[in-house]
Amino acid sequence: MPYCSECGKKNEDDAKYCTKCGSHIAKSSDFEKDIDQFAEEFGRKAEEFGKRMEKKAKEFAKSMEEHTTSKTKDCPECKEELDCDANFCWKCGKEV
Ligand SMILES: [Zn+2]
Ligand SMILES: [Zn+2]
Repeated sequence: MPYCSECGKKNEDDAKYCTKCGSHIAKSSDFEKDIDQFAEEFGRKAEEFGKRMEKKAKEFAKSMEEHTTSKTKDCPECKEELDCDANFCWKCGKEV
C-alpha cells in the first residue's frame, strides 16, 4: 500500500497519483518487489552455490580418501586396476 510522500495519505496499490494532493506516487511497491525478487534470486544462487560447494567438498573428500586408502595401481598398458604389490599385470602380462 503506497503512502503519498507529500501528504502521507494511504493510496491504492496501483495508484500513480495521490488521491488527496495529486502528487506522483513513487512506486515503492515495485521497489519492494524488486527487493523480494533480488532476495529470492540471491537465495537461490546461494543455495546453488552451497550445493555446488557441498558437491565439490564431497568429491574432494572422496578423492582424498581414494588417494590415501588406495591399495591399487593401474597397469600402464591396459589400465587395469592392480594390487600395488603386483609386479605383473594379471590381464595383459605387462611388467608394472
Ligand atoms: Zn498526497
Ligand atoms: Zn595390463
